[in-house]
Amino acid sequence: MPGTTLIEIKCEKCQKIFEAVIIEHIDLAEDGKMAPQVKSGKLNRAVCPQCKKVTYVDRALVVNFEPESLIVLFDPSATTAQAKETLRKEYDTLIHYNEIFEEVGKETEFRVVSELNELRKLIDNYIGNHWLSESEPLLPK
Ligand SMILES: [Zn+2]
Repeated sequence: MPGTTLIEIKCEKCQKIFEAVIIEHIDLAEDGKMAPQVKSGKLNRAVCPQCKKVTYVDRALVVNFEPESLIVLFDPSATTAQAKETLRKEYDTLIHYNEIFEEVGKETEFRVVSELNELRKLIDNYIGNHWLSESEPLLPK
């Protein structure tokens, strides 16, 4: 099951403010069917209840590449090296204060990615390594 959160969105067409559930964490080993949407940058689609305008929400997404011991934080706004470093430090702090996380964290690479193209390549690699094809997610090689 993907991790979700409730956010407020302001419609860019009619200015109405509405709430939408968006996905903020997926695990490719379980949520493989979402891979094509993640690759297209259209995972989080919200529809304005008033004017029906469709918005693709540009939010940070955590992708777990289980069983490859790689966790990627995809954040389109983390375009500078400094922003990436700050996010990495937050992650280090998080795992430091949680024993279970610390165990996993030591063996897991945490990478911050801001370019959709880079995320796409990582997912394509993953699919090539683990699945028969993109249309058959979760069907192991
Ligand atoms: Zn609207």
